[in-house]
Amino acid sequence: MLEKRNFYINGSWVAPKKPNDIEVINPATEKACAVISLGSKDDINDAVLSAKEAFKTWGYSTREDRIALLETFYTLYKKRWNDITDAIIQEMGAPKDFASKLQTGTGASHTKSFIRYLKEFEFEKPLGEHAKNQRLIYEPKGVCALITPWNWPMNQVTLKVIPALASGCTMILKPSELAPLSAMILAELIDEAKFPKGVFNLVNGDGATTGDALTSHPDVNMISFTGSTRAGALISQNAAKDFKRVSLELGGKGANIIFKDADPGAIERGALRCFRNSGQSCNAPTRMLVEKSMYNEAIERLKKYTNEFKVDDPKKEGEHIGPVISEAQFDKIQTLIQKGIDEGAKLVAGGPGKPDGMKEGYYVKPTVFVNVNNQMEIARTEIFGPVLSVIPFETEEEAIEIANDTDYGLTNYIQSKDSEKIRRLARKLRSGMVDVNGAGIAVDAPFGGFKHSGIGREAGKEGLLEFLEVKSVGGWT
Ligand code: NAD
Repeated sequence: MLEKRNFYINGSWVAPKKPNDIEVINPATEKACAVISLGSKDDINDAVLSAKEAFKTWGYSTREDRIALLETFYTLYKKRWNDITDAIIQEMGAPKDFASKLQTGTGASHTKSFIRYLKEFEFEKPLGEHAKNQRLIYEPKGVCALITPWNWPMNQVTLKVIPALASGCTMILKPSELAPLSAMILAELIDEAKFPKGVFNLVNGDGATTGDALTSHPDVNMISFTGSTRAGALISQNAAKDFKRVSLELGGKGANIIFKDADPGAIERGALRCFRNSGQSCNAPTRMLVEKSMYNEAIERLKKYTNEFKVDDPKKEGEHIGPVISEAQFDKIQTLIQKGIDEGAKLVAGGPGKPDGMKEGYYVKPTVFVNVNNQMEIARTEIFGPVLSVIPFETEEEAIEIANDTDYGLTNYIQSKDSEKIRRLARKLRSGMVDVNGAGIAVDAPFGGFKHSGIGREAGKEGLLEFLEVKSVGGWT
């Protein structure tokens, strides 16, 4: 079993002030694969002070120095690709090919993309041709608390750490206590790339103690959080006390609107996007809205596709899904599947219990409910498992109304060949992202949500701007 008790503070790996072990459970085996420590208020204090001290110089570092360090980091990241992938397989159960191509892959693409934006970004510019003595200066926000979940560990960590480094901020990363191993490799890479001490710090821990100590620390200037809406609200309350800047990426309950003129693969593609990563993606299209004239055909196709959908060991190569993250998550999903049955939705594939023959591991059956009404709990709550709710609609207006009738607003999906209809819908859907006909959202397009899905945007130029304050100087000469 891996022993990973130390934290990375002020350029070295240090023991926690008070021992407080917790095991990291491999969800495929239900056995511990590593032991880490939960950080205390004192550990957080040391990390914040080190970041505060480092900001005095790093906050004024040159763009060229930061580019050089990030390029070294990017080279090292690619060298450790397989180690990062193996860590992700163990800590959260993503299957090998998916973990390598998508989980580890997005970390690399975000790093590359942020380096490009750092090279192009205008940190200083005149307000405009009409006011040349008015200068805008973009400065790093300062000491940042970066808190991430377990479902896309390297994607979420790089979406925060890389733009924070690029902008000249210093930081304390608290990865999810359920999946901290890939983030600890990232800390090793930052050390190896020789970023100045104190610029990046990592303290493991839970939300209630470590996360709370971090988000309420008076010397933290900005919080960037990805996780549940529940924790996002608590963190915002902590931030409000001393006006910390807050960026929140929270949950979702995306609608995938499928019109009868959709391309032939739209139904299966929609189910795949819902089941992928075992349904543990905030932007998963978990409500499939199907035009009534093709509803029966869609049900038959979903039954066939889902019954053939493979769930298997994450260590194996191939296009299957692995387990969900934890026993608690498995139980929550089971409760919600039962709730769907009790509320009168019709189960056409999957259902309660583990897939046949799977005793060990938190495996869930890919599940499809049809005849779902948008007021049912399975249509309103983010299940975070491979569970699809299918809702029929008759008109375009009705589809928009159902899609927007949710607390969330992260990603909605449209499947149709009618360009005019696509544009009308894309404008009317209340979400931060709209994905049409499986095109996908670009790696550097702004990622974030409306309503309870969060505040702010990650990735690309917008993601860099999240870590910068703008200063206006009048009378610039
Ligand atoms: P979670 O909120 O329980 O935990 C996320 C992180 O926050 C962990 O590091 C945890 O330790 C920490 N945390 C928890 N409570 C805290 C508190 N009070 N103060 C400070 N830190 C706290 O969420 P989770 O179960 O780990 O992740 C799943 C959730 O994340 C889902 O709701 C999902 O939709 C959301 N998510 C959103 C996005 C996005 O970009 N919008 C991406 C991935 C996941």
